[in-house]
Amino acid sequence: MAVALLVAAGSGERLGAGRPKAFVVLAGRPMLEWSLEALRTAGIEDIVVAAPPGHEVAGCVTVPGGATRSESVRAALAAAPPGDVVVHDAARPLVTEDLVRECLAALLGVDGVVAAVPVSDTIKEVYPDGTVARTLERSRLWAVQTPQVFRAEMLRRSLDVEESVLAAATDDASLVEAAGGSVRVVEAPPENIKVTTAADLARAEAALC
Ligand code: C5P
Repeated sequence: MAVALLVAAGSGERLGAGRPKAFVVLAGRPMLEWSLEALRTAGIEDIVVAAPPGHEVAGCVTVPGGATRSESVRAALAAAPPGDVVVHDAARPLVTEDLVRECLAALLGVDGVVAAVPVSDTIKEVYPDGTVARTLERSRLWAVQTPQVFRAEMLRRSLDVEESVLAAATDDASLVEAAGGSVRVVEAPPENIKVTTAADLARAEAALC
């Protein structure tokens, strides 16, 4: 049986909604409730939410989040029962039950699975002064989202690194890769956006109404 860690402890400064992003009302409910529904409908009963201190989430184990996203994942993992682990950002409320199921099903013979979308833009590496260093081979590039699914022991080991390494990690899979783990992608719908700005919130609202 899988467990889920829903990271919801970000401040949401870029959204400017005056409250933590995961608790902003989206299409009639707090944003994180959309992800909770998708995870539960996918059959996951045990969900640990990393939330800002003082926020409790009914029906879930709630732990205070950390200073960085990875620290929040680590805090949630410490409170999780045994089982494969689905990590999901509450900031992706358009996640579907099907995507959660597909990611779980792909955890065969690998240490991790990430939802991702092939990139359609050409991606260039650029120096701080704006000069292009090189153009990357687009056919091999994927933009990574959550859910990300891992064997619990592999994730625990990967998160057992210095705080500076945790702070620099922009997703969990990169820590698993750095620890020598194998990770594969599952193609996700591009609609599974991360809500960062007010425009993203309006887009998510339109998709859910
Ligand atoms: O800031 P960003 O939108 O990239 O955060 C991604 C997810 O990580 C969000 O769901 C946010 O609530 C969560 N997060 C967290 N603890 C932090 C920072 C972010 O749980 N310290």
